[in-house]
Amino acid sequence: MEDVPKVAVQGEEGSFSQEAGLKYWGKPVDFKPKRTFEEVIKSIENDETEYGILPIENSLIGSISTTYDLLLESNLSIIGEVISDVSHYLLGIKKVTVKEIRKIYSHPAALSQCSTFLESLQNCEIIPVYDTAGSAMMLAKNRDEHSAAIASKLSAKIYNLEIIAEKLEDYPNNQTRFIIVAKADKETYQKNSKTSIIFTTLHQPGSLFHILKIFNDYGINLTKLESRPHKTEPWRYYFYLDFEGHRRDKLINEALDELRDQTNFLKILGSYPIWSESKKVERIHITSGSIEDKDKSHLPLYSYERKGNYTIITLKDFDMPEIKIGNGSFTIIAGPCSVEGRKQLFKTANLIRESKVSILRGGAFKPRTSPYSFQGLGEEGLKLLKEARENYGLYIISEVLSPSDVELVAEYVDILQIGARNMQNFTLLKELGKVKKPVMLKRGMSATIKELLLSAEYILAQGNDKVILCERGIRTFETSTRNTLDLSAIPILKEKTHLPVFVDPSHGTGNRKLVLPMSKAALVSGADGIIVEVHFQPESALSDGNQSLDPDSYRKFIKEIKDLKEKLRK
Ligand code: PEP
Ligand code: MN
Repeated sequence: MEDVPKVAVQGEEGSFSQEAGLKYWGKPVDFKPKRTFEEVIKSIENDETEYGILPIENSLIGSISTTYDLLLESNLSIIGEVISDVSHYLLGIKKVTVKEIRKIYSHPAALSQCSTFLESLQNCEIIPVYDTAGSAMMLAKNRDEHSAAIASKLSAKIYNLEIIAEKLEDYPNNQTRFIIVAKADKETYQKNSKTSIIFTTLHQPGSLFHILKIFNDYGINLTKLESRPHKTEPWRYYFYLDFEGHRRDKLINEALDELRDQTNFLKILGSYPIWSESKKVERIHITSGSIEDKDKSHLPLYSYERKGNYTIITLKDFDMPEIKIGNGSFTIIAGPCSVEGRKQLFKTANLIRESKVSILRGGAFKPRTSPYSFQGLGEEGLKLLKEARENYGLYIISEVLSPSDVELVAEYVDILQIGARNMQNFTLLKELGKVKKPVMLKRGMSATIKELLLSAEYILAQGNDKVILCERGIRTFETSTRNTLDLSAIPILKEKTHLPVFVDPSHGTGNRKLVLPMSKAALVSGADGIIVEVHFQPESALSDGNQSLDPDSYRKFIKEIKDLKEKLRK
């Protein structure tokens, strides 16, 4: 059995540590049950086993102090971590009902995590024992039909017991993080790593601050800070710190060097792959020297830093000119708020084409604040948009309101629009991630820039990388405008993300007079384009007439934007 790792675990066969170990290795493991955590450590030190698995923190009860204290004393390294669900099962000899059980055995920690369930029982004695899996083992031996054990699902399998009740814990999502310890030569290198250290500070004001500042200066992300008493010096503490990065990374190496000067005592417990459920961690053995950290895979998909260049979205149809969005050319999208009928749409489309703008907007499904306002023509509106597309040679953008309409809207349009009111409709966002067409995501009226980016991440994470962001004004106390157009979002977004950034000055102000100055400001601020509302006859518009440009103001608008673009080019 050469490839089967020998692993020391605390607890009898079937313990939660063993369950976590199976998850970590994902293959058969030779587990050696030990009575205590100390025995786990000793077994590795004596070469009886290669690895040990120890719980370090639980999402309900917090840090496991025994493990922290042992790490200080032992010479072993942390070489891995695994997060495992801890779910408690009521196990018996026979599949009887809960009411028939008279005695329940388990470890006190497990009993305390299932207190609500236990309190609901009548005429049942609760008996604490040394180990959860041990309680299952005892039951398998004494075979009392009216006794039960609270233990893991794995214990049921190992001791051939019946599951009488499941998920007994007081809170769902009860999870424990375990660490894998081994001799230092078992340490591996992986880009997406974490490092754990222990240190004591110099006994002077601000010393912890100076240490944490080093991490801040190097841009290193801390993931956990814990303190434990210094046993020989009362009221002094050991600090345990976990942070992202591998000690072989150049940056981390330098930060650790600086740390040495600022600490009394520094012990590096190890660098190890950050646990991830989705991808199996690939562990590479360390080569000598430091390895430059160029891996950006931990950054969000929207991040400019991760991608390294701006996204350009191309609209292309065989008999229409190719349009590139995000290539620095400031794209204008124009059209009515809603599609109201053939005459309205075509007259407006004609105006748009004459102005050499190539993308026509128009809502077929309208998200109206009042249910009694015009709700849009639905599919009929989409058909009219398609006709306008063919007749005037314009690309089409239109809003989709519901996940069930995504496929339908995608058939008719070139860009799908997600309105402000739906920016956090995550079901809809996930659906959009599956289509092949570009998506314009408008900022929610009470959404932060970070929330806008995270909504974009939903779409990107599903595999659609053609996302355009749109600032369209946010709610503030100001009542002079419909919304407060947050133009500062443009440079902020351009720094944070590679995605094209648009501005909607129509909804951003609610006032046609403000559309031109705000569009100019958007251009100067670095936006990739604007989306504006235009109506051949705004006074008769079924929605947003006040903010829609009329034909004359639209023509003036186009000319002034063109002039400003030229001025900026010089
Ligand atoms: C629109 O563009 O017609 C619209 C409804 O915009 P928003 O979602 O930004 O309010
Ligand atoms: Mn509108």
